[in-house]
Amino acid sequence: MTYGKLIRISLLTTLIILALFIFFISGNHGWIESNYSTVFYPKLASALRILFGWFPFSFGDLIYTSVGIAVAWQIGKFIVRFFHKTDSWKKKLNPLLTAGIILLCVYVYFYLFWGLNYYRQGIEFQLGLEKDKFEKQQLIDLTDYLLQKANSTKTICLQKNDTVMSRERMFQSSLQGYQTLQQQFDFISYKNPSMKPSMFGTIGNYVGFLGYYNPFTGEGQVNTKIPLFMQPYVTCHEMAHQVGYASESEANFVGFLAASHSNDTLLQYSTYLDMFIYSWNNLAAVDTTVAGTFRDKINDGVKRDLKTYFHFLRSHRTFVSRWMNVLYDYYLRQNRQIKGIESYGEVTAWAIAYRKKFGRL
Ligand SMILES: [Zn+2]
Repeated sequence: MTYGKLIRISLLTTLIILALFIFFISGNHGWIESNYSTVFYPKLASALRILFGWFPFSFGDLIYTSVGIAVAWQIGKFIVRFFHKTDSWKKKLNPLLTAGIILLCVYVYFYLFWGLNYYRQGIEFQLGLEKDKFEKQQLIDLTDYLLQKANSTKTICLQKNDTVMSRERMFQSSLQGYQTLQQQFDFISYKNPSMKPSMFGTIGNYVGFLGYYNPFTGEGQVNTKIPLFMQPYVTCHEMAHQVGYASESEANFVGFLAASHSNDTLLQYSTYLDMFIYSWNNLAAVDTTVAGTFRDKINDGVKRDLKTYFHFLRSHRTFVSRWMNVLYDYYLRQNRQIKGIESYGEVTAWAIAYRKKFGRL
């Protein structure tokens, strides 16, 4: 056996053992919560942020690009050899095996370095919330509260002529929000920030992502090509992923808690507006007439931003984004988010449960 072959077999065996470990441990939510999500993962993520945070660009995006090129290269090699009659089947299939090993590597790394957080008990357990059922009136009250907050924060921003947020301020204010939140809930701890603009912002608009977390480097990426007023809340959402809340509804909720604890009105506005949209959409699904009454309560400044937001969504809707939505929906369903893409909107259930328990939001 050649040396190279021995390495490949050992690597493949190790990866399969680790993949099996991930498969079996993912069912033990209690173990993951108390050993992985709150002990091992925070230390690992913090170390990664220290290691890669100082790069002025997204190192993780380079890794994604390299992996993409490497896999495409191997598939290309397979196609060329496939039509090469003199090549043996062993030679033809070899690039596919290499591509498979690369993808298995990514899979194992992804879950061990972050993805297991999908299987934790999470914020519901930590805050002692019960989010299962709520009344329509609670949803109406929440929508009303969020709209009032969006209206009032927008008015303050307009009065102060404070409508544009620099990237530094956005990252700094989000961090401050998390620090203030930590004083109340010490298990939500975020140190050594590593937030960066995504290299794929323009592509992102057509594919349909606002931001993402990179488990390979611990970097949080914000799509800075989306409308400005959306970016601060996206930053807080991605920071929640960095803290270890993998599920989208939890990241939305923790991001919301952090943003609403910030002193920065522009950041607060961004999060109240986004939360209002979720809540309003949920209400419209239950009662379109009541949801319609909110239209008249939206102030002009907020209306302008909503118009920009919906125009942005419409103008970037392509067959790629629709296709990616289907794929992402499938991915979320495979990772304990049974509502798929709609699980982002589940954040309203968290907000209602939180209000019920703590009497405020
Ligand atoms: Zn997310």
